[in-house]
Formats: sequence, C-alpha cells, structure tokens
Amino acid sequence: MADLFDKFDFIDQIQKNHMLSLPVHPLGARIEEIYSPTEAKINGKRCHMLGTNNYLGLTFHEDAVARAVAAVETSGTGTTGSRVANGSYANHQDLERDLADFFGCKHAILFTTGYQANLGFISAIAGRDDYILIDADSHASIYDGCKMSDATTIRFRHNDSQDLERRLARLPKDAAKLVVIEGIYSMLGDRAPLAEMTKIAKSHGAYIMVDEAHSVGVLGKNGRGLAEECGLEDQIDFIVGTFSKSIGTIGGFCVSNHAGLENMRFAARPYIFTASLPPAVVAAARANLAHIKNHPELVEKLWRNTDLIYDGFQRLGLKTGPEKTPVIGVQMPDVESGMQMWKTLLEMGVYVNMALPPATPNGICLLRCSVCAALSEEQINIILAGFEKARDICLAKGTVAA
Ligand code: PMP
Repeated sequence: MADLFDKFDFIDQIQKNHMLSLPVHPLGARIEEIYSPTEAKINGKRCHMLGTNNYLGLTFHEDAVARAVAAVETSGTGTTGSRVANGSYANHQDLERDLADFFGCKHAILFTTGYQANLGFISAIAGRDDYILIDADSHASIYDGCKMSDATTIRFRHNDSQDLERRLARLPKDAAKLVVIEGIYSMLGDRAPLAEMTKIAKSHGAYIMVDEAHSVGVLGKNGRGLAEECGLEDQIDFIVGTFSKSIGTIGGFCVSNHAGLENMRFAARPYIFTASLPPAVVAAARANLAHIKNHPELVEKLWRNTDLIYDGFQRLGLKTGPEKTPVIGVQMPDVESGMQMWKTLLEMGVYVNMALPPATPNGICLLRCSVCAALSEEQINIILAGFEKARDICLAKGTVAA
C-alpha cells in the first residue's frame, strides 16, 4: 500500500549520502547568537556572515530598532487579524504611502511576506483566458502564484528575450497577458534584460511585472531596483518586492500606477485570508525605507564590497555567476564537494548558504553568497582567506576539482 511519506524518500537519500556525517546540517544551521548584521554564532562557532540577504546591513539599524520597540509598547505584538477584517492599522496605510512615495507610484499594497505578495498578486491579476509568461528560473513564489491562478502559464528560457517574443507571438492577440521577470535572480545573481523584455512585452500588449526582491536597495542610484537602473520605471506596470532582504525585516508589497491594483485587496486570497504585519515590523520597515531613501551612499558601499568579494573569488579561480552583483553563486561540481566546502568554510568561521536543486537552476549545487554593505574590509579579507584555505583543503582531499 502506498504511504503518504513515500514521496519524501529523496530527502532521506540526500541525508544519508551527504549530510549525516556533517556536524551541522547545511539546510538548517542553528544561528545561536546574532552579534551584528555580519557576525553570528553558529553551532558554537563565531562566523562572518556571507549568506544573509541583509544587503544593506539594516537589521540592527538604531532607528528601526527604537521605532519597533516603541511600536510594540504602544500597539502590541500582533494585529491578530487580516487587512480586510480587523487588522488594518493606520501604520499599514502610512507604510503603503511611504512605498508609493519611494517608488514614485500612485498605488501600493502590503502583503505579510514577499512570498505572499507574488502568490497574491499573480493569482489574483491573471484569471481564466489570461496568460502569464514567466522566466524558467523564477522564484518558487512566482511558480506558486501561477499554480494558484486560473490563467495559462507559459515558461520562457531564462533571460532569453527571443524565446519570450516567440511565445508571445503564438498567443491570441486580444487575450490579456502578464510577463513576469526578476530584477536580480536569486541564485546566480544575474539581472533580467529589462529593456529588451519590456519592449517585447509592450509590443504584444502585455503587462510587465518585475520582482525586485533582490534588487531593491541594491540596483539603481536610489536603490529602487533594476527598473530604476535601466531608466524604465515609467514603463513597468507592477513592481513586487519584499522587506526581508535589504529592508531588514519581513513583509511584501506590490506598487503600480494602475488604479486596478487596489482591487487586489478584495481579490488576492493571500492578502484577505492571513493576518497583517505586526506593528513592530511595520515601524522597522518604515524606518529602514526612509533610511535607504536618505542614504544612497549605502548602496555605493554595498557595491564596493561586491567588487572586493566578486573579484577576490575570481582571483581564487572559483566559478561565479555570469554577472557581478551582491548575489554571488559559487558553483560546485557536485553535492558532495559543495557539502565539504560548506563545512570547511564554517570551520574557518565563514557562513554561506548551501543551495541545492530544486531551488537552483539546471540542477547545479551552489555556495550562495550574499554581500552586505556592513562588512568591513578586514572581514572581507578574512572571508577571502577562508575561501582560499577551504578550497585548498578540499582540493587536497580531492573533493573539489582543480
Ligand atoms: N521573490 C524572490 C525572487 C525571492 O528570492 C524571495 C525570497 N527568497 C521571495 C520573492 C520571497 O520573499 P520573502 O522571503 O520575503 O517571503
């Protein structure tokens, strides 16, 4: 007889083959103490953090902490309700206005996570008879939003404008279409070819949505993302983002100039049927968003650190992603060598993320690194020395090919 747990066999296999010998499970390392955005104790070891998504290092930003504490004291620890029932606080609306202002858009809608922003927006905007065209390397939340929608989903090859064009051309001319891409792809750190794809989408009458989860606070002089960097903000229909990366807390949003975005409040199930963001989170997000707006030099610092780390990896002969961005995926030949390198790095006091399929494209195994503006040059030197040593140890053991 079939067993409900049969489908998880592959997890047992990975554990048995690759992880049981490791003292720390790479897919759930225990972070025991957090000293700063760049240092933490992981399984008893003090580590420099190169695997956080905390691009601007704002998780301990004084103003955000103070405002979050004050919000707990004045408004409590949770809203205990959804935005359409009993959980719509004045501060949620203030944050939506801040977001609209930050992006220079007329409308903004909050979600409780970035995942839910994609799930809610995509599933609600595209219905029966509509088409959603997504990049093959899209984040799981985009795939899940498509699954939850009644629209037809079509995948195009990663960052392949011609493939997008071919697929759009086959669709009925009068059907409504949404093209979904990402500002920076979360595993290999490459940008979408936004100018080309926007032109193609527009020429086929399609709307275009950019998930700027990894590019807000990272790309563009003011940190507004790839659309800002490319000078295309007035042509992008919808920007989806998250507070869980450069903004240093949790939550998601969608901004747009289309008045129809407001209808999401009564159509997007992940907006309607879940509790709203707690007051402390809203306060922290408002403080950090204002800080990013007033301190564009933070983005410059992030890029100086990115230069040092990416160039350092190249000098060490590590195989990095195709573009230099603060998301640096170091490609490992297989899971075994990835695990060895990850473990050795941890022993050297350097924490990175182990990324395995299905989270990675083309079944590759990655040591996913994310740069933080708050890393000092001294820390970066320690990190690079750690990578060099770990590489040499793994080479000697024969687990990493030269
Ligand atoms: N979109 C992308 C591209 C992401 O990488 C992520 C998270 N890794 C999300 C959305 C979801 O964001 P959150 O973790 O804030 O729910």
